[in-house]
Amino acid sequence: MPGAMHDDIEQVLFTPEQIQTRVKELGRQIMQDYDGREPHLVTIVKGSIPFLADLMRAMEIPLSLDLLGVASYGAGTTSSGEVRLTKDLDDSIEGRHVLVVEDIIDTGLTLAYVLRNLRQRAPASVRVVTFLDKPAGRATTIPVDYIGFTIPDAFVIGYGLDWNQRYRNLPYVGILKRDVYGG
Ligand code: 5GP
Repeated sequence: MPGAMHDDIEQVLFTPEQIQTRVKELGRQIMQDYDGREPHLVTIVKGSIPFLADLMRAMEIPLSLDLLGVASYGAGTTSSGEVRLTKDLDDSIEGRHVLVVEDIIDTGLTLAYVLRNLRQRAPASVRVVTFLDKPAGRATTIPVDYIGFTIPDAFVIGYGLDWNQRYRNLPYVGILKRDVYGG
């Protein structure tokens, strides 16, 4: 039924237009900062896929990309702190300028695990770009170099972010109605 997904949204936080404007700005800033160095975009799937697709097209410089699969959440909406690798990188990152592309940072536990894992592989540098940041949820200190938007402590979906694998295809970011996930 058309509109069924939209009916589950409490509030739209960022429209497709706002997202495009911000992601283009981020891409330009990163492009300037890398100043001749070629970034290797290590993307955490699946939530970061729309962000990666838009961000890389906003960076008009040579770059490469790879995908890393990490599972942190089950079907719930709060972090278990348990992280495991579900898909490893295809290529070595030794000597490369790694830019980790993340959808959202909440507790920071997922990213802390990813950064520990990547640093063992001897990259030339590691930076982090996240589409969304929820600083209120932080349980560990992690360096974040680029942030798209800072958001309040709410469970959001859309533009790659899911609840139970659904809503990733929404073109905007919204807060899910509590009665949808029984919170
Ligand atoms: P962290 O380990 O920082 O607590 O959580 C990181 C991961 O949890 C994200 O990559 C994302 O998969 C999931 N996550 C955290 N907050 C949200 C949220 O508000 N909405 C959705 N859909 N996923 C979230």
